[in-house]
Amino acid sequence: MKELIWNEGMSVGIDAIDDDHKKIIAILAKLTSAEHGETSEQTINAIFTELEHYVILHFAKEEALLEQACYAELMAHKASHQNFIEQLPELKQEWLTKDCLACSEKITTFLHHWIVKHILVEDLDYVQCVNKFFSSANKAKDKNQSQLSLIPQMSHVLSQKLKLSQRIFITTLLPVLGVLFLSFFILLNNYKDYKNVSLVLGLNDVIAQVNDISHSLQAERGLASGLAASRYQNFNEQLSARRLITDRAITKFLTLLSNELAPAVQDNIRLYSTYVESEFTKLAKHRKQLDNKTVNFTETYQAYTHLIEQLLSVSENLIHVDIASGLANDISAISAVLLFKEYMGQIRAIGMTAVTTEKKSLHNHLTLSLLVGKQLNALRVFHYSANSEQKKLCINYCDAQLYQQRLVKHFSYVMNDHTLEQRSKQWFDLMSADIDQLDVLTDELTASLKRKVQLESQRLENNFYIILVFLSLFLVSATLFSLILNYSIINPIRYITKALHKMAEGHRNIRFKESIGSDEIGAMQLAYEKLRRKLLQVDIFQAIVNRQKNEIEYRKSQQAHFETLAFTDALTGAVNRYQFNKVLADEIKRADYEQLPLSIMLLDIDHFKRVNDNFGHGVGDEVLIMFYRACKAVVRASDVVARIGGEEFVIILPKTHEKNAYQFAERLRGKIQQLEVIVDENTIDLTVSIGVSQWRKEAFFSAEEFVAHADKLLYQAKNGGRNRVVV
Ligand code: GH3
Ligand code: MG
Ligand code: MG
Repeated sequence: MKELIWNEGMSVGIDAIDDDHKKIIAILAKLTSAEHGETSEQTINAIFTELEHYVILHFAKEEALLEQACYAELMAHKASHQNFIEQLPELKQEWLTKDCLACSEKITTFLHHWIVKHILVEDLDYVQCVNKFFSSANKAKDKNQSQLSLIPQMSHVLSQKLKLSQRIFITTLLPVLGVLFLSFFILLNNYKDYKNVSLVLGLNDVIAQVNDISHSLQAERGLASGLAASRYQNFNEQLSARRLITDRAITKFLTLLSNELAPAVQDNIRLYSTYVESEFTKLAKHRKQLDNKTVNFTETYQAYTHLIEQLLSVSENLIHVDIASGLANDISAISAVLLFKEYMGQIRAIGMTAVTTEKKSLHNHLTLSLLVGKQLNALRVFHYSANSEQKKLCINYCDAQLYQQRLVKHFSYVMNDHTLEQRSKQWFDLMSADIDQLDVLTDELTASLKRKVQLESQRLENNFYIILVFLSLFLVSATLFSLILNYSIINPIRYITKALHKMAEGHRNIRFKESIGSDEIGAMQLAYEKLRRKLLQVDIFQAIVNRQKNEIEYRKSQQAHFETLAFTDALTGAVNRYQFNKVLADEIKRADYEQLPLSIMLLDIDHFKRVNDNFGHGVGDEVLIMFYRACKAVVRASDVVARIGGEEFVIILPKTHEKNAYQFAERLRGKIQQLEVIVDENTIDLTVSIGVSQWRKEAFFSAEEFVAHADKLLYQAKNGGRNRVVV
């Protein structure tokens, strides 16, 4: 047996343990070299004692270490140690008692296999556990000294706590959560904008109505002022018609306020609308006073103006509602136009009396000049707030200079070209025409705002659906991606791991039908395949070697078998005739050379034919074997028993005189006679006739003659009545 050599691949990474293993291997090497040759029993004893001593020390060291590291398989490990220690004395005993090369080779082979299994299978299994224990112990010690970089640390913790599939899931989940979070804010913003836009839409309706009422009230104020100024002479009919229009507008406005507005809009204008409602009741009271002619021009003018201002304050205050700044500006611009128009209405009403005085210039009327100033201010506000579309719509009214010129022209036209009675009517008609145009303009402005807001609302709605679709697509694709990733990583790793386990169990036939890919896992698959083929190669060669070994052993045994067949008799195992001749020749030579006596006995079983006849040939064979064994049992180790015929045997007795040979022959004859041969409850009586002769160089020519002489004596024994010895 070749000795085992330490290989670095056997290192468990713990120096003390590795040293022990090396030492044990060195002791085994001593045992291997003791297989051959004449190693004394004492030496073998010493080697086994040393082995036992070292193994026990090593086991104790190992077990203490594993106990410290809380190794899960400690009990199984201990049991394996104990089992080996118990086997050692038996192995030693076997080595010493059997004392053959094959036995000692068997023992060293066993010990080599044991140490290799002990290191590669059992010890390398606990390495991870022990390393982990020591690394965590070391970490605790120098926690402050070494700050391992964050990424390896985190990846270590993650791989301890989470499976790969879970880590992949989290990796795909994180961006999904991010997108969900982001989408939530976008949708929330979108929703707020949408709510604002709906609010603006409602407010715009309110403004349109406010415009309608104020426009009608403005006309009513003009007519009522005119009526009061002309001491109830003019405008009666027109006023009645106008009152109807105003009432219709008010009714419409009140229904809008109470029923048709969205709750959000109602919440925002509740305060103003209750106030305005109370003002409408005051209007009815004032109209009655006017009909009873108990109010003058100023009172009438102030009552209407106050009501209109209250109304307009609704639209003015709307800009304080929390809406998007762009839309608030749009509303502010409309509100400015409404104010501009209201001041125009006031100019119309004041003008109704102003034109009846002799002051020829508009600028001589302080109130009118003041109102024009307020108008210009409203125009400025409009310019600041209006958007380009609004400005385009108002292009004919926005120029302050042109407007003033036009107003002055109206005034001088009424003053210069008409009689005192006609002036009020003329003034009212001219101004009303302008105010009506402004009314059309404000309607257009509110309509344009409505369009804009509707577009914005549509845009926000579309945004909402786009985000929803995008989000759904993203979620579906992220889930799909996660599944594919999982499938493409986890499954192949599982397959390869399973195949590796199978390979470790000895299966070399697991092959992947197709390549997993050209990535890292594909490389892993290739490495697996390489390893599989290498091991398969080793297996195949090992099988060839084993077959060859078996073949050699078989040949050897066959050879030994044939060798014995050549020298021995196949039935009894006695030396055959051919070998007998050789041995006898040798013995004669030796006897002559050493001057020692040599005798032979020729034996023939009596009436053997009857045994065959009575009991069959098979029984005859059995009897021959028993006869041979009986002879062999009584002869010395140096005597040779040979079968030279059917039931004829010869015994060569070296260093024996015929006298002693005779005594021995008599003893053997007695033994044979006493031999109990029982077949089917019948006892066969066996006797033998023996001829004994001693070698005499001068008397016999050859070995044949020597045997022939013994045969002659045997013949005499037969003739003398059988069951006797003749010398
Ligand atoms: P004797 O006392 O004169 O020797 O009588 P015997 O019957 O023993 O002698 P004989 O020579 O007449 O017969 C020998 C018999 O031994 C004849 C043969 O059938 C038998 N024999 C020879 N070889 C074998 C053998 O190998 N097996 C068996 N069963 N019988 C054998
Ligand atoms: Mg015979
Ligand atoms: Mg015979």
